Amino acid sequence: MRYADLVEYYQRLEATTKKLEKRDILAELYGQCSEKYLSRVVLLSSGTVFIAGEQELGIARKMMRRVIVKTYGVSENDVIKKFKETGDLGSTAEFFSKNRKQHSLAKRELTVEHVFENMRKLPDITGAGSHERKIALVNELLSHASPLGARYIVRTILGDMRIGVAAGIVRDAVAKAFGKDAKEIEHAYDIIGDYGQIAGMARLGKLKAEIRPGRPIRVMLADRAPDLKTALEKFENPALEYKYDGFRVAIHKDGNDVKIFSRRLEDVTHQFPDIAERSRENIKARQCIIEGESLAIGRDEKPLPFQMLSRRIQRKYDIERMTKEIPVQVNLFDVVYCNGQSLMNLPLSERWSKLKGIVRETAQLRLAEHMETKDFSRANVFYKRALSMGQEGVIVKNLDARYQPGRRVGFWLKVKEVLEPLDLVIVGAEWGEGKRTRYLGSFILAARSGDTFLETGRMASGLIEKAGDKEIPTMEEFTARLKKLIVAEEGKIVRVKPEIVVEVGYEELQKSPKYPTGYALRFPKILRLRPDRSAQDCATVQEINKLYKLQRGRFRKSA
Ligand code: ATP
Repeated sequence: MRYADLVEYYQRLEATTKKLEKRDILAELYGQCSEKYLSRVVLLSSGTVFIAGEQELGIARKMMRRVIVKTYGVSENDVIKKFKETGDLGSTAEFFSKNRKQHSLAKRELTVEHVFENMRKLPDITGAGSHERKIALVNELLSHASPLGARYIVRTILGDMRIGVAAGIVRDAVAKAFGKDAKEIEHAYDIIGDYGQIAGMARLGKLKAEIRPGRPIRVMLADRAPDLKTALEKFENPALEYKYDGFRVAIHKDGNDVKIFSRRLEDVTHQFPDIAERSRENIKARQCIIEGESLAIGRDEKPLPFQMLSRRIQRKYDIERMTKEIPVQVNLFDVVYCNGQSLMNLPLSERWSKLKGIVRETAQLRLAEHMETKDFSRANVFYKRALSMGQEGVIVKNLDARYQPGRRVGFWLKVKEVLEPLDLVIVGAEWGEGKRTRYLGSFILAARSGDTFLETGRMASGLIEKAGDKEIPTMEEFTARLKKLIVAEEGKIVRVKPEIVVEVGYEELQKSPKYPTGYALRFPKILRLRPDRSAQDCATVQEINKLYKLQRGRFRKSA
């Protein structure tokens, strides 16, 4: 398939803002795609060459500017000037491609396969000279591309397609193209996590979402409850577990082969060889997928602050030393697959018994604290003990409920003491004043509404000034990270790609017509960075809505 054919579809997608039209355009594209190309086209149409959590392309805007300079023989200043005008390096490349003076003689037609495979090579280019080799690879693509092709190649590599295609639209388009129900496609996605592969299966009429070790599944999530009593009343047979404040891991064991996946479906086995080793030694099942919350622990085996664990998550080198310096403990709470069988449809009571049966507990691999009762006073003692042990609270779980991947369906309810902090994504920032002109200070925070991000507040730089000592990035680090994500600039305000998620504490949620979510945060304050969250995981407007109602209830009670 020619890349130019795909580009025509990109253009049509970009030309409409209507979701249904986008779905129909995509369904037409998928429907006419040959089997060989389908999975690649599905990924490329959603603006990427990797499935969620697999890899990142790792090309910053600055590097892309250098590619444009090299490909079209223009000066860096010309590129910066054009970028200021268009606010988009894709259109900037397109402009220089159109106005190119010398044309490459040996120009050949780009195929989808060639573009896709070359882009996938980018993250693997590491070590000495990697910068130049990456530039050469992108340069090769651009020199064979048409002006429009250049626009979309650049945007794909920068992860900023601007064609308004989000996961929901891809799901609906796959369903439409192959005559399936969107729910069926979504269910398969929860387990397989790759719309490309699912489209291929749907076309062949072999849509079977099988779980197996080594293939990450989207995890089940919890809802919020206003208090313990309400949560207990929700279920006929409730269980309570400590809500550990750590990093969720799914341990996939297949014989001696153990892989660890994060909640974002990233393979983090490399960062956690100790968890893999403990699992190999102490999980008695030949094959299984089990889940737990990992915590960093001190010498006394007490949990350490999340920042310590965060160092383990981000660590790429010297892992061996790190595992000794910051040991982790996994508190296991579920099993979804065991010895060739999915356990997802079993009630939690049976899954929990199964889990107990296959784990040999050690200090570093243990079962979560778990109690089954509907009696409020017993539950309250358990809850208070969780808090006194430094945990966040409890999760009240419905023992009769199945495992529902990827969603908050109300089978798990978390109960916490404090006003819930919010995970929000940074969508913009403002250059500072006076001695802070070099820094992007005040952040524009947003919550998710479907596939878009809506502003819900600004956070003044003063509030994060001392950030450096709390393992929150310093202003300098924040500025460096945000600069790489800038997509547009207007005066002192920059807009950034929604990527950095921060946990924000606040004193109160207030109704506010000033922000598109309808809510503002009173005294927002960064509590920590959430490298384990993607923008898709940040708080939704519906959640803020619920929190607002909960908060009103609580304030009324205490008044
Ligand atoms: P929060 O920001 O409050 O930690 P969250 O965004 O991490 O919430 P939720 O779905 O709201 O995610 O809460 C469930 C999360 O709590 C799980 O993803 C898991 O990481 C963590 N957790 C800790 N202890 C448990 C437990 N016993 N059972 C299930 N999840 C647990």
